[in-house]
Amino acid sequence: MSGNRNTKKRRAQQGAGGKLLLLLLALIGVAWGLSKALENRAPEPTPLPTPVATPIPVATAWPTVSPVPTPPKPAVDVTSWELRLIRYENPLGEDFVPESLTTVENGQQMDSRVAPAASNLINAARLAGYSVYFCSGYRDYDTQYTIYWNHINQYMAQGMTEEEAHAKTRLAVNYPGASEHQSGLCADILESASQEMEPWIGGSGLMLWLEQHCAEYGFVVRYPKDKTDITGVEYEPWHLRYVGVDAATYMMEKGLCLEEFLALYEVG
Ligand SMILES: [Zn+2]
Repeated sequence: MSGNRNTKKRRAQQGAGGKLLLLLLALIGVAWGLSKALENRAPEPTPLPTPVATPIPVATAWPTVSPVPTPPKPAVDVTSWELRLIRYENPLGEDFVPESLTTVENGQQMDSRVAPAASNLINAARLAGYSVYFCSGYRDYDTQYTIYWNHINQYMAQGMTEEEAHAKTRLAVNYPGASEHQSGLCADILESASQEMEPWIGGSGLMLWLEQHCAEYGFVVRYPKDKTDITGVEYEPWHLRYVGVDAATYMMEKGLCLEEFLALYEVG
């Protein structure tokens, strides 16, 4: 019996050994197959990054350009007297005289409708600590004519041709009939009687104060810096023109000259 048992045991051992061998062979085969497959495999290209689909934002409103909303242009009547554009191409004419004139100070008159605003502006500047000299208000056609031709004669005496003299004069002195001073709506204001009327006085002292506060009284710096190509007149920080508080506030805030402001209202 023992021999029989031993035989069984041996068979069992042989059977187990056979299974193990088969398993080993199978593993070798798998390993071999795998290594072959890896050898034969073409080198894989570097995979391209998978594009991530970015959702396109759906516009629900116009993007905000500025955190400060742009103020709408004021509802003014651009054909009104205080917004009248006066320049060489659009003169008042020889016969224009304001309906009513009021003396502001220093013998200087202005259109009666704007004289109180000019007085208030001057008083405010004095309260702010500036000395104020009201240099020039209303000027009639004949006075403007004399000033203009005095400049022409002076330049021609210096050797300029008449054409050259006109071109140079017109940058600083408006042509007779085309001066805002004839309208009575503007004022030349200086810090003292002796102060030169030259562009370099701008940007400081009383000139800076006027630039910052004139709109509160309805005035603008009519010939601003860097707008000569539009206005046709050199920078005159002392020359204030009445246009009304709403228009003045908008123009000074936006840095617009009168020509640019009026262009906003031109219909197609
Ligand atoms: Zn002036």
